[in-house]
Amino acid sequence: MRHVLVRCPRHGVVTHYRTADPRAAGGYRLRCSRCTGEAVLRRKRKVKEILVAEAGGCCQVCGYDRCIGNLTFHHIDPSQKRFPMSTCSGKSLAAFRDEAAKCVLVCANCHGEIEAGLIPSPPAGTGRIAPKPPPPGGVAPRLFDPGA
Ligand SMILES: [Zn+2]
Ligand SMILES: [Zn+2]
Repeated sequence: MRHVLVRCPRHGVVTHYRTADPRAAGGYRLRCSRCTGEAVLRRKRKVKEILVAEAGGCCQVCGYDRCIGNLTFHHIDPSQKRFPMSTCSGKSLAAFRDEAAKCVLVCANCHGEIEAGLIPSPPAGTGRIAPKPPPPGGVAPRLFDPGA
């Protein structure tokens, strides 16, 4: 991957990466590293929004849903944990869905109480709703894939 300094309309002159794109003139296009970073952050947020919605949308102990940042996925069985739900890099939405299926969505307060043994954890999958199928004839919304 080659790094070049090019002007981005949003970020000024910053490092850009050459990424292969058969549709683009010359077979590649330049991607602003700052725009890419922001897209990764947006993707992280988007993935969490989807997973939280599918896991019931609120804490499955107390119903808290005010701040998505305070909602976490608690692994019911730590031995089944393949990766912490907080990491996002390089994982597909499907991989997160697999992982979320072994978890229950709880808020930071209830998570702390579960970890401390004060309250029992709800079973994995509590409150889960089935992921929405893509619209008929339509294409499922594609999440930005920084590795593509
Ligand atoms: Zn940019
Ligand atoms: Zn709670």
